[in-house]
Amino acid sequence: MAAADPLASAPPTATAVAVIDLAAVAANFRDLAARHGAPVAGVVKADAYGLSAARVAPVLAAERAAMLFTAGFDEAAALSGVVPKNLPRAVLDGLAPGTEADFVAQNLLPVLNDLGQVERWAAHSRALGRRLPCLLHLDTGMARLGLDAAETARLAEDASPLRGLDVRYVMTHLACADEPGHPLNDLQRRRFAEACARLPKMPRSFANSSGIFLGPDYRSELARPGAAAYGINPTPGSPNPMRPVVALHARIMQVRTIAAGDSVGYGASFVASRPSRIATAAIGYADGFPRALSARATAALDGTEFPLVGRVSMDLTTFDVTGLPEGAVRPGGFVALIDAAHDADALAARANTIGYEILTGLSRRAHRVWLPA
Ligand SMILES: *Cc1c(COP(=O)(O)O)cnc(C)c1O
Repeated sequence: MAAADPLASAPPTATAVAVIDLAAVAANFRDLAARHGAPVAGVVKADAYGLSAARVAPVLAAERAAMLFTAGFDEAAALSGVVPKNLPRAVLDGLAPGTEADFVAQNLLPVLNDLGQVERWAAHSRALGRRLPCLLHLDTGMARLGLDAAETARLAEDASPLRGLDVRYVMTHLACADEPGHPLNDLQRRRFAEACARLPKMPRSFANSSGIFLGPDYRSELARPGAAAYGINPTPGSPNPMRPVVALHARIMQVRTIAAGDSVGYGASFVASRPSRIATAAIGYADGFPRALSARATAALDGTEFPLVGRVSMDLTTFDVTGLPEGAVRPGGFVALIDAAHDADALAARANTIGYEILTGLSRRAHRVWLPA
């Protein structure tokens, strides 16, 4: 695919441009389902990791996602009318007090994260005379959300609150799935199996993206991959098995020549050691290009890399293009900050963060172009 095509279609006023390949999202999701060998849900929280839930969710629905997960209620409600009515949408944040009727009205499934939520959802079910759908979340080592070991034990002793509910899945979440050798993986797997054995029989939901790559011991009736569908490497340290989804480009505003000894940008943190050509690109931390990348990232033009110099500012970032043929970088043209060769994970590593934060951090000021599935 010629990277120039979507950029040519961007309006001339567009500065930072993110190109999101929905066909790659579809291919990645199919690949994850095949690897899991059992049904797979789509995770579209945080606006589908910044890529637009409204655009991504229908693609995952078409690829037969068995369920969609969001973090918050509003995110899930916003997908009403965007995906088929019969595709269940579940809210990981759970059942906030007083929202029971809202969940029913919006046809959403709460992920029940503590016994209080279980009891409130069961009471609401009784009041309506219906077994309301939900998921049950057991904490097996994340210590974030979900019934802790004591609550799980209480529920195992008296499972009567579950009787009035339609628990579609009992789920847990891995803390260290991206580190295959970490002992917590196996410990969580055993805790989950033991807890499930003590509770009424329910379908299980276990692996996230990286969990799918831990192998068949981590298979369940429903995996919940998010990041890998969006091209983030689920196997850090090994080559990325997923297709790249996101490219990020920035438009060049000016190119100037500076003398040896001249400084660039805030804090004069870069001082040229030789006469240099500096290209100023219209992207900054307000676009979600982290300031932590100051003096640490590279950009590319037709595969040739060149360094970011000086500080990333709110709207602008400067690059040393002295090594490129004169005229190669021109005002109005684009340089690539994320591409197949330098993906979101690689950029993230330079900023001491993870690809997840780069994607979810892309601001809405960056113009987004979606290549069709
Ligand atoms: C975010 C999340 C996922 C998806 O995780 P990825 O690492 O993006 O695949 C799955 N389950 C839960 C509970 C989550 O919070």
